[in-house]
Amino acid sequence: MPSDRAATLKPSYKRILLKLSGEALMGDGKYGISPKTLSAIAQDVKDCVELGVEVALTIGGGNIFRGVSGATEGMDRSSADYMGMLATVINAMALQDALEKIGVNTRVQSAIEMHQVAEPYIRRRAIRHLEKGRVVIFAAGTGNPYFTTDTAASLRAMEIHADVLLKATKVDGVYTDDPKKNPTATKFKQLSYIDVLKKNLKVMDSTAISLCMDNDLPIIVFDSTLRGNVRRVVLGETIGTTVGRFDEK
Ligand code: UDP
Repeated sequence: MPSDRAATLKPSYKRILLKLSGEALMGDGKYGISPKTLSAIAQDVKDCVELGVEVALTIGGGNIFRGVSGATEGMDRSSADYMGMLATVINAMALQDALEKIGVNTRVQSAIEMHQVAEPYIRRRAIRHLEKGRVVIFAAGTGNPYFTTDTAASLRAMEIHADVLLKATKVDGVYTDDPKKNPTATKFKQLSYIDVLKKNLKVMDSTAISLCMDNDLPIIVFDSTLRGNVRRVVLGETIGTTVGRFDEK
């Protein structure tokens, strides 16, 4: 339910899909979930809900387990990927708890059925939840090995007809090079999908980018570690980098 103050502000989007990596939940730690970071993220999400925006979340699992790491240690890739998908369910439940503690109604929908902890992913039901102002957390990625949660985020964004995919990262956009290693690296304000693919820029994996390109879904890459940034993006402030159907550079 939008608060009186928030209701006077006009968001740029009606429905968003926010992609959070598992690492976003770690805070300064090297593994797992930081309760402090978790509640800060939950507050950011609540701020958007109070603006009247319908919010869906896709959460990664890299803070707990990544399939590729398991596979390089000799594990069967599919088994390792299923472990990665289960890790995202742990994160989804943590996020759900943090959101509900501050009064945000949520539903977790999992691409791998586990009725005791989450609803199964049902597209129409997800949309209905969003219309009712509930935050829907998509867990277990696409439900298929060899994919990533970035691809899951693109897919779900398309399925629920989100206006934009917000890709939360630790840097404030996409740079020509790693800004931490190369001080001359510059930030792109806008980028075409093709440029991201051709220049192999680290935005999201190529499957995720291609899916957005084929369906004209804009992506905004921004720094989610600064509190209030999600709200800024939702209110149309041009922070970060927008990937869309722009001219090639
Ligand atoms: N994963 C998968 N299929 C999917 C989504 C995820 O197999 O559709 C697995 C994969 O092993 C991946 C792990 O889940 O490494 C965690 O997801 P991801 O690496 O995308 O998390 P993030 O980097 O966003 O934390």
